[in-house]
Amino acid sequence: MTPQVFHGIGVSPGIAIGRALVIEARRPRAKREALEPARVPVEVARLRRALEQTRAQIQEVQTRISNEVGAQYARIFDAHLLILEDRLLAEETVKCIQDQRVNAEFAVQEVLEPVRRAFSRVEDGYLRERRTDVDDVGDRILRNLLGQRPTIHVDRPGETILFAHDLTPSDTAQLQRDAVLGIVTETGGRTSHSAIMARSLEIPAVVGVEHICAQVQNHDTVILDGVEGLVILSPDREILGHYHARKQHLEYVGRALHKLGSLPAETQDGYRVRVTANIEFPAELAQAKTHGAEGIGLYRSEFLYLNRPDLPAEEEHFNVYLAVAAEMQPRPVIIRTLDFGGDKLVSAIRLAPQENPSLGLRAIRLCLHQPGLFRAQLRAILRASAFGTLRIMYPMVSGVAEVRAANALLAEEKAELTSAGIAFDPMIQVGIMIEIPSAAVIADLLAREVDFFSVGTNDLIQYALAIDRINEQVAYLYEPLHPAVLRMLRTVVSAAHNEGIWVSMCGEMAGDPLYSLLLVGLGFDELSMTPASIPLVKRMIRSVTYGQASDLSPRLFGCATAQEVEKLLRHEMRSRFPEYISGPLQASAESHTGGV
Ligand code: PEP
Ligand code: MG
Repeated sequence: MTPQVFHGIGVSPGIAIGRALVIEARRPRAKREALEPARVPVEVARLRRALEQTRAQIQEVQTRISNEVGAQYARIFDAHLLILEDRLLAEETVKCIQDQRVNAEFAVQEVLEPVRRAFSRVEDGYLRERRTDVDDVGDRILRNLLGQRPTIHVDRPGETILFAHDLTPSDTAQLQRDAVLGIVTETGGRTSHSAIMARSLEIPAVVGVEHICAQVQNHDTVILDGVEGLVILSPDREILGHYHARKQHLEYVGRALHKLGSLPAETQDGYRVRVTANIEFPAELAQAKTHGAEGIGLYRSEFLYLNRPDLPAEEEHFNVYLAVAAEMQPRPVIIRTLDFGGDKLVSAIRLAPQENPSLGLRAIRLCLHQPGLFRAQLRAILRASAFGTLRIMYPMVSGVAEVRAANALLAEEKAELTSAGIAFDPMIQVGIMIEIPSAAVIADLLAREVDFFSVGTNDLIQYALAIDRINEQVAYLYEPLHPAVLRMLRTVVSAAHNEGIWVSMCGEMAGDPLYSLLLVGLGFDELSMTPASIPLVKRMIRSVTYGQASDLSPRLFGCATAQEVEKLLRHEMRSRFPEYISGPLQASAESHTGGV
């Protein structure tokens, strides 16, 4: 048989060579059963037990993911708990059992169906993503009521590459790293929940490979290349040999990379980039340090607000920031103030429904709107700054007025602390995230107001290209290398440097080694990323000279499309790091394009 090559989106790196297992999405369904009146309370009790069981399972998955792979990934399940804990879900379902005298499983289905339909119809990608979460939670409740176990049964552990139309975060989370070698899905994008879960479990994955499930049979030999985003069916001996060698080499490189953690990210001609870590939970600090983080470039403080009915008090903020500052001392920690809204939910903050939450009352806007909330956090950061090197960063800034308003509140808090005789770092640096195009365009004006910038490309790309970062249907248009994005990055770096302030990048783009040359050449002073990405990015930076990186810039800026930029970058990478980027595909293979 002729080898067939399918192109998708590589979302979790690594090579897997194994046997296919095609999973059909078998969603549980319940039949309607009419109840005798006496059975109604029994069904209500069954429902409550199933809800409890579901909550315990989600929390268990959350704890396991948090312990095994890092707390930031466990956050995906916060949305599930929020849905489950919504009082309406329980109340409506009980009402349905009582009024219609039907079995609990049917009632759950009845209550969730209109919610699912409503979510499917909305244009907003964030809400559509919530439909997947509603399905995931609904399926769990139904399975618990029906006494079914989760569906994926891997009959050949250690050899299996899973193929599915889609996988829910719960499906992915139940997979054992050792049992499943790789994951291929027909849907999904870089930022879909199942992609994030695969990355966190370090299972190589390629998503967005259209129609592949119909082409593959159980037990077929397949190759998955999570770096290049390729899936090869019916590989011949030559291709298999090539990939076995490449896999071994990548594993060897991975082991060698770990040793790089403690070395600085310095180019061969002495240009130094600070490489720092993005974290969400203090528990991640140890991992950040062992991977060689020179500080925390983004501490997403939202975790303090999650999964609780009330808001954290100043003292609670203070204790957490104090612990973080002390543990990282003398390395700096940037605490991003509350970034609520859009894709980030906090149960204790209830806002009126917004048509476009990504463009709504969120982040710094919300903090300025509810200054009590903001002041408690600012005051706690200031107090903790007496015990380490803390920096404050405001998210989602769109203009100078917001920075001034936030800084005015900060100045008031400083004055109050001074008059109360409470210590804080009077020189504490204050920066902003550049993640809204207006901020990038007026970076020269903003640079006069703050001590540093940190570019949040996850949002900057979404707003600049009008591509919802969690909408899988337009994931193929989410292009970090779009010439418009590159021009914004260049504008921001030069505006910062012209005003004598430093500039970091803390979006996902900073941790992708493919972009390291570009970012060094642009002159970024700091790159902040998931801890696991640090060694490879350091390796890239240490292998080039600043001259080589900056000489590449004019050529990159001469490209008209993201694809052209990527081709050039891959070409450079191929010649410098052949072990990371594979050679051209075998000419004998038939090629299929998916993912668009
Ligand atoms: C970003 O937008 O790039 C960013 C780092 O912030 P978050 O991903 O938390 O929105
Ligand atoms: Mg952001």
